Amino acid sequence: MDQPGDLEAQIRARFGDDPERTLRDNFAAVEERIAAACARAGRSRSSVRLLPVSKTVPVEVVRLAVGVGMTTLGENKVQKAQGKAKALTSLGVSWSVIGHLQTNKAKAMVSFASEFQALDSLRLAGLLHESLVAAGRTLDVFVQVNTSGEESKYGIMPDEADAFVAELGRFPSLKPKGLMTLAILKGTPEQERACFRRLQAVRARLAKSQGGCGIDLLSMGMTGDFEIAIEEGADVVRVGQAIFGKRPTADGHFWPGLLPGT
Ligand SMILES: *Cc1c(COP(=O)(O)O)cnc(C)c1O
Repeated sequence: MDQPGDLEAQIRARFGDDPERTLRDNFAAVEERIAAACARAGRSRSSVRLLPVSKTVPVEVVRLAVGVGMTTLGENKVQKAQGKAKALTSLGVSWSVIGHLQTNKAKAMVSFASEFQALDSLRLAGLLHESLVAAGRTLDVFVQVNTSGEESKYGIMPDEADAFVAELGRFPSLKPKGLMTLAILKGTPEQERACFRRLQAVRARLAKSQGGCGIDLLSMGMTGDFEIAIEEGADVVRVGQAIFGKRPTADGHFWPGLLPGT
């Protein structure tokens, strides 16, 4: 267990002496970059939703983030997210789970999340549906698509999307909203752009083959590539480090096997 003093030191190391101020400034800076990217792309600012990603951020700091206006937060590990959701119940935060979900965590996620962005198996869809029916609720979902071809990355392949989405109709408590992707890690801007275009193409194809399926939104773009994603039509950008500072853990921790040495 961390000592309280350790936690304070960790918070100061990552967020400075005035974490609330740091969050407010970072949030405003990201907001400005999004507005500028929208302007360059000839899009209205309101066409892009910013989802702040608070993974690895201690709940004490998440509370401050809510205070400066971040009321929907993205997390990629269910247990961590659930702990934060419990601690902050009174603040009325909406939680979006953006990471791969193990089937044995479906019920836990249904207990607190309002959105799930990493749906990539029908088995999981079935388990989520069961838990949702039992809880008497629905869940907004994004289908994760592997647009980079990286083997260890989660998500269905682009050419599987039509059949996958057609099957989702069997689980009416899942409300399909869009597609989600992670661009190639450590790629060039051109390679990132190609991933975003692949996701766009999948949406266009679904509009023809699965008209009315509800899949309209593209969730793509993170700290390193959200401006390119906006140029390529992102409706949701998921931004962690530009708001909450550099994560103390290597990304291989979140995407096992994707980076050398992880
Ligand atoms: C961590 C994470 C993000 C945010 O990444 P940053 O580099 O911190 O902006 C976005 N999407 C997913 C799925 C993530 O796990």
